[in-house]
Amino acid sequence: MFAALSLPETALIVGLAGLLVGSFLNVVIHRVPIMLERDWAAQCAEIAREHGDTAHEPVAETAPAPAFNVIEPRSHCPQCRTPIAARHLVPVVSWFVLRGACAHCGAKIGARYPLVEFATAIAFAIVATQFPTDASLLGALLVTGFLIALAMIDFDTQYLPDQLTLPLLWVGLAASVFAPIKENVDPTQAILGALAGYLSLWSVYHAFRLLTGKEGMGYGDFKLLAALGAWLGAAAVLPIVLIAAVAGSIVGLIGIFAFGRGREVPIAFGPYLAAAGWLVMVFG
Ligand SMILES: [Zn+2]
Repeated sequence: MFAALSLPETALIVGLAGLLVGSFLNVVIHRVPIMLERDWAAQCAEIAREHGDTAHEPVAETAPAPAFNVIEPRSHCPQCRTPIAARHLVPVVSWFVLRGACAHCGAKIGARYPLVEFATAIAFAIVATQFPTDASLLGALLVTGFLIALAMIDFDTQYLPDQLTLPLLWVGLAASVFAPIKENVDPTQAILGALAGYLSLWSVYHAFRLLTGKEGMGYGDFKLLAALGAWLGAAAVLPIVLIAAVAGSIVGLIGIFAFGRGREVPIAFGPYLAAAGWLVMVFG
């Protein structure tokens, strides 16, 4: 479809599509943790009810909660809850036109919304220059979108939701059969990559816990690396872990020595894994 386009033209078109995808990723990053929290609260209430404990009964049991997912309700101002007009949903541009505030109540809207949109656009454009314009480009863009969402959610919540890591893993395994993003990643490579990804961090986690009694990372990290292994093959796992560990240590040390951050403050490892995985995917 893009055969007639030059590389800069393809990068520009894919980059503009990245702005729109980034806008959707903002919704995913903001809402998925809230959706999980609501799920957990509902499950806790359910368990409490089964045990005859009515103290945790939800108050308004009769009214079903309004739908809340990445599609509904429409994007609204978190402060005054006014739905955002379509003309104010233009990625990056609207934030500048509105000077970073809600058009209705003037509440501040964080700079990270346009930043996520802009970063997604740049990442998409870079991917477009490194992959042939076929199914492998779509696969690489899909991985890019998942990694941005996962990195930001982990940064916010220290949690990598199964709802994102597991689909990324399954689609990676399927892609190795139908449309691998790297020529050498056949189904055998993808399965070995997923195994190597999961087990490498799993063993580091348990060794670290035996030695120090502390938990250095979470199971979400294993699943994220398993997903990256499925997409990129077993040979990519070690470089990803090394880049992520070095980058994480440097940033961690800067935090401790330059900003007086406590050694015990947990650092999310997911953003480093995601960034390292993306670099290996695009330039490895
Ligand atoms: Zn408002």
